[in-house]
Amino acid sequence: MSSQKRYRIEAACPQCGCSSVSHLTKEEIRKRFGDVPNVELECSACMLKYSKPMKEACPEWDKECRMQED
Ligand SMILES: [Zn+2]
Repeated sequence: MSSQKRYRIEAACPQCGCSSVSHLTKEEIRKRFGDVPNVELECSACMLKYSKPMKEACPEWDKECRMQED
C-alpha cells in the first residue's frame, strides 16, 4: 500500500453539472496534467471536454506546486 499523499481534484461539468472527483498522487497529477495552470477534464456523463484552473480544482496542490518552484 502506498503511503503517498493524494490530492483531491474536484470539478463540475459546465454543460450538465455532473461533478467529478479524483484522488491523485503528485506523480499522477504531473503525468496527467503536466505543469500547466489548468486541468483538462472529460465529463463522464456527456463526454464534454473542459478545463478548470488548478487553483479551483485543487487549491491544495496548487499551493504546494508553487512552493516547490525555485
Ligand atoms: Zn457533462
